[in-house]
Amino acid sequence: MTTLNDAVHWSAELGGGARVALVQAGTFRSDAGALLGPVPRILWDRLVQDEIDGEHRLLQALNCLLVETPGGRVLVETGIGERLADKARGMRGVEGDPIVPTLRRAGFDPASVDVVAVSHLHFDHAGGILTAGGARAFPRASFVAQRAEWEIALGENPRLVASYDQPELRLVRDLGLRDAADGERELLPGVSVIPTGGHSAGHQGVLVRGRTMTLAFFGDLCMRPWSANPRWVTAFDDFPLDSVAAKASLFGRAADEGWTVVLSHEPVHPVGRLVPDRDRFRYEPVV
Ligand SMILES: [Zn+2]
Repeated sequence: MTTLNDAVHWSAELGGGARVALVQAGTFRSDAGALLGPVPRILWDRLVQDEIDGEHRLLQALNCLLVETPGGRVLVETGIGERLADKARGMRGVEGDPIVPTLRRAGFDPASVDVVAVSHLHFDHAGGILTAGGARAFPRASFVAQRAEWEIALGENPRLVASYDQPELRLVRDLGLRDAADGERELLPGVSVIPTGGHSAGHQGVLVRGRTMTLAFFGDLCMRPWSANPRWVTAFDDFPLDSVAAKASLFGRAADEGWTVVLSHEPVHPVGRLVPDRDRFRYEPVV
């Protein structure tokens, strides 16, 4: 394991020339009750004592992965980005550098990214596709989300569209529809997206298979350590029963095959493993 510099939270060689770096594109805050969804407060209260603020919000990191392979570079997630209005930034408690300056500090030129893949199109994952001035932040990159996600994100269901910034998504819709995935797709040799649904209709995970290590990013199906329990889903999950089923199946594979897992919003211990624990899983951090 090597740390490139202080902009890189964690990095690892996966074998066969594949390497991954975790960069955190700032933080924001979300309501604790909404994040813990259907779970009774008495079960989660003690887990959040250290980070809950006066407005009952938790600190959520915007974890992004830069995957390097002999075939090219993939960026997983773009965070909130530079375009959110000041009022919304204040309401959501956004702090820290967005993805482009964070990547530069980590030593990666945004123009060297070949593929950008996002787990889904909610504002805190797809907000960094454009720069503040409206140019493409990753000018050479294709942009891969699931086609099912685009359809629901640009649709009209009032419950489902609340988490999407539709005016922003319309600006990148042509790029997004050009490269959209219909199910599982290998982006580059060893790097694949796999549809999961659940959190959103077209939510997807990313798997990176190196020669010695497999890394899994399950997006917002596995955002914090407590997400390891398949039944602990957020109130933001639009299809919670699908989340429970997808988590049980994917986490089982991750545990069986010893995958390294990166959590989408965990600020402190974002890299770990899933371990079977009675009828659920437990998250054990490695950093
Ligand atoms: Zn999220």
